[in-house]
Amino acid sequence: MFSIGKIFTLIIILLVITFIFKILSKKRKSSKVKDPKNLDVSKCPSCGVWTSEKICTNNNCPFDN
Ligand SMILES: [Zn+2]
Repeated sequence: MFSIGKIFTLIIILLVITFIFKILSKKRKSSKVKDPKNLDVSKCPSCGVWTSEKICTNNNCPFDN
């Protein structure tokens, strides 16, 4: 037999677990955004400048575009 108290405690536990999972998924998403590897950018092999363009945008780049 289930008592109202036990059911209420189970609901609270489920809500806490759901809340923790939401926080963890948000942290994972924010860490991915900060990682330049997951952004649409590429690093120039010659000067090492990160650029969103396919061609290096650094005017002082030694690489001949
Ligand atoms: Zn470059």
